[in-house]
Amino acid sequence: LTAQAEKPPAHAPAPAPRRERLELPTVAHIVAVASGKGGVGKSTTAANLAVALARQGLKVAIFDADVYGPSIPRLFGLAGRKPESDGNTVTPLEAHGVKIISMGFFVPEETPVIWRGPMLHKAIEQFLGDVYWGELDFLLVDLPPGTGDVSISLASFLPGAQMLVVTTPQEAARKVAERAGKMAERTNLRPIGVIENMSWFTGDDGKRYEIFGSGGGQELADELGVPLLGQIPLVPQLREGGDDGQPITAVAPDSEPARAFRAIAERIAVDLKPKKVFSAQLTIK
Ligand code: ADP
Repeated sequence: LTAQAEKPPAHAPAPAPRRERLELPTVAHIVAVASGKGGVGKSTTAANLAVALARQGLKVAIFDADVYGPSIPRLFGLAGRKPESDGNTVTPLEAHGVKIISMGFFVPEETPVIWRGPMLHKAIEQFLGDVYWGELDFLLVDLPPGTGDVSISLASFLPGAQMLVVTTPQEAARKVAERAGKMAERTNLRPIGVIENMSWFTGDDGKRYEIFGSGGGQELADELGVPLLGQIPLVPQLREGGDDGQPITAVAPDSEPARAFRAIAERIAVDLKPKKVFSAQLTIK
C-alpha cells in the first residue's frame, strides 16, 4: 500500500452522487479545519484550539478526518489506544478535556492507506454517525491537507459547518483562497477565518525573525473575505508537545502560542455562540 497523495489514484472512480441524512442534533457547532497543503500545522492548530475551547468550559470534540495521516491520536498522547464500542456505537476517547475520534485509532499512523471514494465515504459516515458524541458546543473536524477532491467530498458530510483555514506566511494565498472558495461553494462550508501558523521565531536576542516570510495569512483572509483570527509563532515547544501528546495549550497555557490559541478560541466562541443546535441534511456527493 502506497498512497500519501491528496488525490485518490486515477483508477479510483469518483464516488457516485447519493443523498443521505445524518443528524447530529446534540452538536451546536461543527468547525472544519482545512489547509492548502500538508505540514502547515493544521492538526497542531486543531488540537490546541480544541484544548483552548475546552479550557473555557465548553464541551469539545475532535473528529480526525485526516485519513491520509491521522496525527490527532499522537498529539493527544492516545497513539495505540482504541475507543470502546458496544457493537453499534463508539465512545470517543478523551484527553485534555477533549473527546477524540480518529481514523488513527483503527489504522496505525505509519501505515499509508489508499481510500477509494466509496470506502472513504462509508468510513466517514460511520465515524460521524455511529459515534456517541453527547452534547457538544464544538465539534472540530481535522480535514485532510489540501482543498482538493478528497477534502471536498469529506466536507460534504458537514453541511452548514464552518471552516477555518490554516496557512503559513509564505503560501500562495490566491491559490489557496481559490481552492478553499471552491470547496466552500461545493459543500456549503462557511469560511469564518484564517489562522497563520509559523508566523515568526523569537531569537535569543528577543527579535522576531520571519523565517517563512510575512503577510500570507492576512492576504488569504482578505482573499476569502474573512478575518485573520490569529498568528501562531514558530516554537520548538509546540512540536515537542505534539510529539509527547502534551498540547502546549494544556501544559504551558501562559506561553506565547498558547495565549494566541486562547485568543482565537475566545473569539470563535463569542462569534458562534448565538447559533442554535446543529441538525442538517447530509448530502453525499
Ligand atoms: P499538518 O496537519 O498541516 O500536516 P502538523 O500539525 O502535523 O501539520 O505540523 C507539522 C509539523 O510541524 C509537526 O511536527 C508539528 O509539531 C510542527 N509544528 C506545527 N506548528 C508549529 C509551530 N508553530 N512551531 C513549531 N512546530 C510546529
